[in-house]
Amino acid sequence: MRPFDYHRATDLDDASGHLNASTQIIAGGTNLLDLMKLQVMTPQQLVDINRIDGLDRIEPEGEGLRIGALVPNSDLAGDERIRRNYPVLSRALLAGASGQLRNKATTGGNLLQRTRCPYFYETAMPCNKRDPGTGCAARGGATRMNAVLGVSEHCIAAHPSDMAVGMRVLGAEVEIRRADGSHTRKTLDELYSLPGERPDIETTLSPDDIITAVILPAPVAPSVQSYRKVRDRASYAFALVSVAAVVQVEGGKITRADLAFGGIASRPWRDPAVEAMLVGETPSIDLFRAAGKRLVAAAETQPGNAFKLPMVRRTLAGVLAEATGLSEPTTGTDNVGEIA
Ligand code: SF4
Repeated sequence: MRPFDYHRATDLDDASGHLNASTQIIAGGTNLLDLMKLQVMTPQQLVDINRIDGLDRIEPEGEGLRIGALVPNSDLAGDERIRRNYPVLSRALLAGASGQLRNKATTGGNLLQRTRCPYFYETAMPCNKRDPGTGCAARGGATRMNAVLGVSEHCIAAHPSDMAVGMRVLGAEVEIRRADGSHTRKTLDELYSLPGERPDIETTLSPDDIITAVILPAPVAPSVQSYRKVRDRASYAFALVSVAAVVQVEGGKITRADLAFGGIASRPWRDPAVEAMLVGETPSIDLFRAAGKRLVAAAETQPGNAFKLPMVRRTLAGVLAEATGLSEPTTGTDNVGEIA
């Protein structure tokens, strides 16, 4: 680890005054400290925001909730209001990391965690996200954990967060405090950048912006909410594929089908066209399989991650079947022969 300065911020003004392109905010530090030990990230100064008042609360905000940026993942997952009204978020949180990490990881830090593409962490390998312009070692390499949607020729890294997928399906907004003291809000779609030609630029935040909260809108009730994660181990593993769903059915028709996906894309993924083709329709396995095909129509696969296409289609069909009261498809016929 390279030497760095440390500043414990007393309030948001103090924190803002110390933030620039050479510094990093530290809260839980569950990802940042690993990256610093590996010299993947080498900030000249850490600005510790843990002692700033008011960032560790979950409070009503209109008909929704305001989740402070310092609320630990475990507290958020266990909050009675989250469990009752936003169960998809609670389940997504509990599907992530380990109990110890969830106790330490914060809401804001979870949103800004970096990809787990193995080449990003290996400084001897080329990586456009770590060292712009050096190339992408994942292409032609091991890509089991990499993305198939929202990728570019310069980077195929997947976003690692489960929590962000749960927030994305709920239409959460991120509250950001600017250096001038003003506040603004961004949807997660507005927060996260696609890799394009600059995969090192992952968000639309400025270096002196501070995420202060996440705002959840009013709960969707009644609804069936689900988070299903497919991974290599039963716990402490990142998603190969995950599906978050908020579904309403009235009079035998699907009236709402909010869907978000993890493990397959460069950011928590939503596809309005997939949701639109479900709304107004009678639930059926054929419909759900058609939605899955549409979801991956523009996917770009590598030899090591092509399995994600049938996997996400099957997972989506299973989630939608469960949410609409149908029997889950078993082997079916749509994917036969696609898994090597
Ligand atoms: Fe780096 Fe992205 Fe390529 Fe991984 S996929 S090696 S993070 S440029």
